[in-house]
Amino acid sequence: AFDAVPMAPTDPLFGLMAAYKADTFDKKVDLGVGAYRDDNAKPWILPVVKKADEINRNDPSLNHEYLPIAGLASLTSAAAKLVLGGDSSAIADKRVVSFQTISGTGAVHLGALFLAKFYPRPENQSVYVSNPTWANHHQIFQNVGLPIAQYPYFAKDICGLDWPGLTASLESAAPRSIILLHACAHNPTGVDPTQEQWKAIAEIMKRRQLFPFFDTAYQGFASGDLAKDAWAIQYFIQEGFELCIAQSFAKNFGLYGQRAGCFHFVAAPGAHAEDVAKRVSSQLAILTRSEISNPPIYGARIASTVLNDPALFKEWEADLCTMSGRIVAMRKALFDKLVELKTPGTWDHITNQIGMFSFTGLSEPQVQKLREEFHIYMTKNGRISMAGLNTRNVEYVASAFDQVVRE
Ligand code: PMP
Repeated sequence: AFDAVPMAPTDPLFGLMAAYKADTFDKKVDLGVGAYRDDNAKPWILPVVKKADEINRNDPSLNHEYLPIAGLASLTSAAAKLVLGGDSSAIADKRVVSFQTISGTGAVHLGALFLAKFYPRPENQSVYVSNPTWANHHQIFQNVGLPIAQYPYFAKDICGLDWPGLTASLESAAPRSIILLHACAHNPTGVDPTQEQWKAIAEIMKRRQLFPFFDTAYQGFASGDLAKDAWAIQYFIQEGFELCIAQSFAKNFGLYGQRAGCFHFVAAPGAHAEDVAKRVSSQLAILTRSEISNPPIYGARIASTVLNDPALFKEWEADLCTMSGRIVAMRKALFDKLVELKTPGTWDHITNQIGMFSFTGLSEPQVQKLREEFHIYMTKNGRISMAGLNTRNVEYVASAFDQVVRE
């Protein structure tokens, strides 16, 4: 019965990881995967996560029973405060609905599923994602039957934001279109709008009745400042938007495989807001129950322990600065070395871009050459994961870039 099933391509990123693993060259460099590495190119367990792990492991009151459908309440409430701000009027007004999800991916999916089922869809309405975006966005929305459109985002000539393209696209999107926005540390480009640009985006979206869906996978990881990395979301809420948020704890807690995340729906302010929130919550419960029944417990406990303890929270902030600080230092080291080598082209974008990734501007043939001749692995679009750089390999990488650019 399945003779006609077509062969699907392997996931490009996971394929890249496998190729890196199989490479036996001693100076090989992995700039592919978006996971933090320490200066020894090793995964890093955050010291505060180790502590929270101990606390939970030694707590005799804990067991492995099921969580409620909406997840661990101490996590979801702290997660809402983290992204919306402790003094959020939306939380005080009881118009925020928070569900624990299978990390950020599950949160985007739950939001997509909810919107596909309940968001009124006039003709021509699409989900607009940035061009480029995290590749999974395309398939997550397509899988629930929502048509995808793209808004211009990256301007190749400046390796920065395509502001005219972005604003023109929002101006022409059909009213009630859904706009997927990266809250900070845009993946894959590392290019974020400034606060002034966010204000202008909000103004257009309000006027054009566009619906914001924020994806926040790097809060605190991007700048080391949790509030700064949530600024855009909080601004939109201040402006009275109804919106969705997909929140991941993979990067900022280093809990990748634990799959800890949350989906939040924020109802528009008004007399019926609390009632809308309750009804949305009841539907999210059905969607969650039918797909995962209830979310995984362990990573949720660790994140919750840290978020709810003021002393541990402080330690977490220090760990976030360790990660973001090392990445900023690597941006500078790579930039300095390229300047020193007088590598053709401008490289300011390496230090201007934010977060885990940098869009280098390297072409596909250059990327291929880096892999074949230098054993340096990155995605075809020239994106590099800054966390793959360290004090031992940054000079090697810079001189390899220099050579492929000159060829
Ligand atoms: N959104 C974006 C933009 C991301 O970069 C990521 C992580 N690569 C995610 C969502 C979700 O990742 P996870 O499911 O591991 O939390």
